[in-house]
Amino acid sequence: QLSPRLQAVANFVPVGARLADIGSDHAYLPVNLLMNNHIKYAIIGEVSQGPLDNARHELQKRRVSNRAEGRLADGLLAVNDEDEIDTVTIAGMGGILISDILEASSQRHQSFNTLILQPNTDEAIVRRWLMAHHYQIIGENIVQEDTHFYEIIVAVPGEQVLSELDVEFGPFLRIEKTATFVAKWQKEIDRITVILDHLKVADKAQTEAYYQWQARYHQILEVMS
Ligand code: SAM
Repeated sequence: QLSPRLQAVANFVPVGARLADIGSDHAYLPVNLLMNNHIKYAIIGEVSQGPLDNARHELQKRRVSNRAEGRLADGLLAVNDEDEIDTVTIAGMGGILISDILEASSQRHQSFNTLILQPNTDEAIVRRWLMAHHYQIIGENIVQEDTHFYEIIVAVPGEQVLSELDVEFGPFLRIEKTATFVAKWQKEIDRITVILDHLKVADKAQTEAYYQWQARYHQILEVMS
């Protein structure tokens, strides 16, 4: 049983995929997909030995090691052309790190049919990277676990022009406006309200920082309305 976050990632993986899960840690996601015969094969990429050992242990325990391989590598260096990987998942890392991994891969001219990305932070940076590198977002989801909100972004090769609001809030998420999406941004509104109040009390209501937070506040209200 996957966590709601990883299940939401799994739901976007095409049936029959040859998957690379980068930064896999315990390999829960690929192991679950292999056990359900949802995917054909998985590469489990890890930059650290400890997590790679965890992953290999999990593969053995769940008896799927004949259809998966753990590799110690930085990002998508784990994948070679001969692997015929068509789908990449990168979940549970910051958006800057995800973009860096994608950037390094694209500089080696790697390209994949489907990217399923779950940045913990800086989602906008990931969307901007995708748009600039000829990937088109075809699906998104947002899930909540405890007090955290996680966005999942699915992209395929293609051209797309995203507006500033699309980049910040997600082209699908901001239109679908699910209860989880509204809850995420309401939390941000509450946080910004506190910041603005503090700045006012500190007599900093005329500063650049104040105006920037205020602009952000109004942008969020616009998207939520
Ligand atoms: N993907 C799993 C999930 O979503 O639950 C595990 C996420 S865990 C928080 C992040 C993992 O990414 C760590 O195990 C870390 O070692 C690995 N990692 C960080 N940078 C990496 C990189 N450049 N290449 C491969 N793995 C990396």
